[in-house]
Amino acid sequence: MLLTQRITQHAHDLGFQRVGFAPADPLPHGDAFREWLDLGFEGEMRWLERTRHIRDRPEHLLEGARTLVAVAVSYKTEDGTAQPGRIARYAQGFDYHRVMEHKLDALGDFIRDDLGLDARTRAAVDRLPLLERDVAWVAGIGWYGKNTLLLTRDLGSFLFLGELLVDADLHAPTPQPHRNFCGSCTACLDACPTQAFTAPYRLDARRCIATLTIENRGPIPRELRHAVGHWLFGCDICQDVCPWNRKAPNTKEFAYLGRPEIQALSADRVLTLSDKDLDHLLYLSPIRRPQRAGLARNAAVVLGNTGDRRWVPLLSSRLDEEPDPMVRGHIAWALGALGGPDAASSLLRRADQEEDPQALDEIRQALLCANSMTS
Ligand code: SF4
Ligand code: SF4
Repeated sequence: MLLTQRITQHAHDLGFQRVGFAPADPLPHGDAFREWLDLGFEGEMRWLERTRHIRDRPEHLLEGARTLVAVAVSYKTEDGTAQPGRIARYAQGFDYHRVMEHKLDALGDFIRDDLGLDARTRAAVDRLPLLERDVAWVAGIGWYGKNTLLLTRDLGSFLFLGELLVDADLHAPTPQPHRNFCGSCTACLDACPTQAFTAPYRLDARRCIATLTIENRGPIPRELRHAVGHWLFGCDICQDVCPWNRKAPNTKEFAYLGRPEIQALSADRVLTLSDKDLDHLLYLSPIRRPQRAGLARNAAVVLGNTGDRRWVPLLSSRLDEEPDPMVRGHIAWALGALGGPDAASSLLRRADQEEDPQALDEIRQALLCANSMTS
């Protein structure tokens, strides 16, 4: 059996569903990535700009790197999230970084201990500066969909990607990049509620709900808040509509199955749980990323988008008690979006006490909205 066949077999035993190999050469889409950065489309993800010159150079991550082992595993699950407040599928289970890094480290041990190679390895899962989709593409695992995600015919695009850098030549055959099967389909481009795609294969992340609700630390731009809809964390729309995802099977990996306590995390619960209880609930969850303030900001927007005035009493009490002015501003926006006399009187009362200029500006604008819908 070839080295690559034994590594592939062991990677399958570890739960990785797709495995490919590529030389650790400069990646082909580095210039396209830098052009995308030059357009400012990375938004709040400033670390991408800081690492612009090394993301296509795997040798920066492991001196003497010769081979990249690319792996992929599906996280597709039934969406069981509570309403109001949807959570992207990838975040309904346990934090995939730890799970995948651990398994890739085990694959590195296999290469040394069982195959007897004198090789150093390094696992990469999202946290190292590397164009991961490009590695998977070069290794022949899938193609770039028009929604910019890596897509496969049998597993769709709900995939976690990972890489093992190896400083040895594994004598892998030269891979063929995957054929593109998007054809004339534009379902993902048409379905995006914020029009975040400026063209096929080009995403303006500043408009993407996933970036706005996860990576963004500041306010969600007012003009995009209605389009955020019921998304409490992330967004799956441009994957849900993809025909290749419809027939893809659900994951069998326990760690990525939806955790009931995470799926039950509705927007109103986010606003009412204590910091400590929320912290406990989000143990080993990707949802920790935007921190409490970011999650509470998202929750306020979701409640404002329900059109249901039964949320006004909760939002009114949170407007008085919320310590973070950015979150208070979004609660005010939600009250303005729901409108009605009760929302207007809460906003008026708070306007008299508010000391933060940005929050006060939000309250005043929300008052105009609420007053225009007083019936
Ligand atoms: Fe648009 Fe949602 Fe896809 Fe972002 S994740 S590009 S907001 S559909
Ligand atoms: Fe490609 Fe259509 Fe899927 Fe978009 S929805 S990634 S265009 S197949």
